[in-house]
Amino acid sequence: IDRNPGEAEFHQAVKEVFDSLGPVLTKFPEYTDESILERICEPERQIIFRIPWSDDQGKVQINRGFRVQFNSALGPYKGGLRFHPSVLAGTVKFLGFEQVFKNALTGLPIGGGKGGSDFDPKGRSDAEIMRFCQSFMTEAYRHLGDRVDVPAGDIGVGRREIGYLFGQYKRISNRYESGVLTGKGITWGGSLVRTEATGYGTVYFTEHMLHTRGRSLDGAKALISGSGNVALYAIEKTQELGGTVVGASDSSGSVYDPQGIDTDLLREIKEVRRERIAQYVEARSQAEFIPDRRVWAVAEKTAVDVALPCATQNELTAEDAELLIRAGVAAVAEGANMPATPEAIRRLREAEVLFGPGKAANAGGVATSALEMQQNATRDTWSFEYTEQRLAEIMENVHARCAATAEEYGMPGDYVSGANIAGFTQVADAMIAQGVI
Ligand code: NDP
Repeated sequence: IDRNPGEAEFHQAVKEVFDSLGPVLTKFPEYTDESILERICEPERQIIFRIPWSDDQGKVQINRGFRVQFNSALGPYKGGLRFHPSVLAGTVKFLGFEQVFKNALTGLPIGGGKGGSDFDPKGRSDAEIMRFCQSFMTEAYRHLGDRVDVPAGDIGVGRREIGYLFGQYKRISNRYESGVLTGKGITWGGSLVRTEATGYGTVYFTEHMLHTRGRSLDGAKALISGSGNVALYAIEKTQELGGTVVGASDSSGSVYDPQGIDTDLLREIKEVRRERIAQYVEARSQAEFIPDRRVWAVAEKTAVDVALPCATQNELTAEDAELLIRAGVAAVAEGANMPATPEAIRRLREAEVLFGPGKAANAGGVATSALEMQQNATRDTWSFEYTEQRLAEIMENVHARCAATAEEYGMPGDYVSGANIAGFTQVADAMIAQGVI
């Protein structure tokens, strides 16, 4: 904590992993002998840079850019870019740390990294977004490469931003290096299913958890926070599997739709019109807008079987957990990174609610990014069906690995410990094999 002052989210993420590792360190003293704990929470490299750009009025704006190259024991650094005013060095470090273990859990050859900027895309024109992305990449490009570091999207970075970033990388490096970024458009090196992958993967993971208790999403009532990339496709897949998603949200408030969220309408509002979620109730008379409340508030109005936080970190608190428990929730899976606070997780587990941590439950996004890299490396394109089948298999394996590891260490059903231990041991073993680096 003394070496990383003011990085509360990073401390929280490290503590969450280290809290699970007691039995592993007892069983394998070499991890202590090799100072693996000290090494694994120190990023291999951190880059912080100035991003100057001109707004539409010709005024020069300055933002701060980050790329944390956390761990390359298993492959090139891989992890998204976040553009949001809340982004600080500690945010990027917490996300990068989580990413290392998540990427290990996918079983694919990718190390962990994360990046972003405190730039706020809200209310900016297309031209401003493009100039910002170009300026970001003008510095970032020298640290990236398909065998070095491969960013993707995250909050505030979708297909449009990846396009501008890729265009600038191509222009200044004079290389059509498809595998340098993932989340690209389908006609220029992107993979089918990448857009849907994180949300779909979270839902597959939830379904596997429910099956361990003889339940399923069919007929279940769900709340899903957010209405961005992850949330939209989590809503779509939950409803495809027979569930009804009765609540969604954005940072201005939540909607309760007892008949089930109309995904096409929500996508049109958030992705095409880029408006606020309150617009949803204009077109759906039975729906209700709850201003300034997180989506868990809907649990005051109706029973809930499943809750998927898919917006941002620390958005599901102990009080929210209580509300969900009272509404009968059976499973919570993190589509976002670290959305549930440690106290919320403790409450849910005490109440025997199935809990899928983000580094396992939302690993489908980065896994499909790795599949995009495979397609780029072989200059191939796979069909939607084949790619979705690969995603489904990966999520089944991630779930099985977490469950088996929890069982092996005498904590059956504890997916948090299972994910932390399985991810940690894989990375630690590779670090030891590669020597003191
Ligand atoms: P988007 O930018 O597409 O959507 C984010 C959603 O969350 C929006 O609805 C946004 O509301 C809301 N939100 C963001 N910040 C806040 C906040 N501080 N308070 C309340 N609501 C907020 O991002 P993604 O869907 O890509 O990412 C969501 C989460 O999933 C993040 O934690 C991300 O790290 C994680 N994740 C994403 C992956 C991906 O493939 N995209 C992969 C794995 C994890 P508004 O529109 O009002 O800003």
